[in-house]
Amino acid sequence: MCFALSACTNPPIAFDKQNFAMGTIISQHIFGDKAKLAADEVMQKIKYLEDNLTINKPGGEINKLNANAGNGKWIKLDKEIIYVLGKAKDFGAKSNGAFDVTVGPLVKAWGIFTDKFRIPPASELTALKKLLNLNNLELDVPNSAARLTQKGQIVDLGGIAKGYSGDVAKEIYQKNGITSAYISLGGNIVAVGGKPDGSNWSVGIQNPRAENGKYLGIVSVKNKSIVTSGDYERFKIVNGIRYHHILDTKTGAPARSGLISTSIISDLSIDGDALSTATFVLGLDKAMALIESLPGVEAIFVTDTKQVYTTSGLKGIFTFDDATKEFTYVEKR
Ligand code: ADP
Ligand code: MG
Repeated sequence: MCFALSACTNPPIAFDKQNFAMGTIISQHIFGDKAKLAADEVMQKIKYLEDNLTINKPGGEINKLNANAGNGKWIKLDKEIIYVLGKAKDFGAKSNGAFDVTVGPLVKAWGIFTDKFRIPPASELTALKKLLNLNNLELDVPNSAARLTQKGQIVDLGGIAKGYSGDVAKEIYQKNGITSAYISLGGNIVAVGGKPDGSNWSVGIQNPRAENGKYLGIVSVKNKSIVTSGDYERFKIVNGIRYHHILDTKTGAPARSGLISTSIISDLSIDGDALSTATFVLGLDKAMALIESLPGVEAIFVTDTKQVYTTSGLKGIFTFDDATKEFTYVEKR
């Protein structure tokens, strides 16, 4: 029986949509009249971005840039591609080269994404590392053009493309008057507003050594991006060694920094995506210093000794809760 009008109204129902794109599952959970319209527009845009940001299939803007590496020509690119390249250069500098989108030749050599995985010999890695240099990615922002100055160089935006797509999805929601939604791009979350009742979204932080959906804790937020990089998403184990898809540009091999998972909480998902990859390569101490130096950005770091660290701004936002009891929460050192 209803006594107050508000108690009689039904709770709003979310519109849910799941698709496969960018090599992963894209899930949208949207409230509002235009939810379906917005969800369809988001998927259209994500497919466009996938086509233009990927090096894993022919055609598209980034392949155009790469195909002309070393020939001196400036390549006209979409404004938004130039924006993503600018962000990539910015986080390359901020992370001292730990995040480096000219990593393409190494990514191809390892074939980690594909069925062509192999362990390249050290001599090959040494040769390919010479092709990595973010300074050779030149941008002419006013003319919306870019070029790679060395032959054989390949820009790979796999470490930042999903983050940018999350930001674009949020813009589409907002344009359609949606004030409560979230999108997950293979575990990269962008939360728009809060839940319809005004409370925070709860986002689980995946336990990197348990099956999908088992969490180490919960982040409680409104209007934030939460991006995780881990060694458990795409990997092969050969002779007991885990080969994953985040490469250390110094060694040319999968990063072994002591971190097995990094989660970044930020306003822009493109920033979170670049920083999750960068901090994974940097290791705990440098990662902690980098994130603490950036206003409005927080992080959760999980080490191979099964310790969980958080930055100072996460007090009251992250709740540690490891059902397996294998991890310990160290908070901040
Ligand atoms: P995921 O794609 O699983 O969300 P990341 O955001 O960490 O993970 O991106 C990993 C991808 O980024 C790799 O598949 C590769 O394309 C690219 N990459 C690998 N190492 C680096 C690096 N050091 N800097 C920039 N990009 C990288
Ligand atoms: Mg990333």
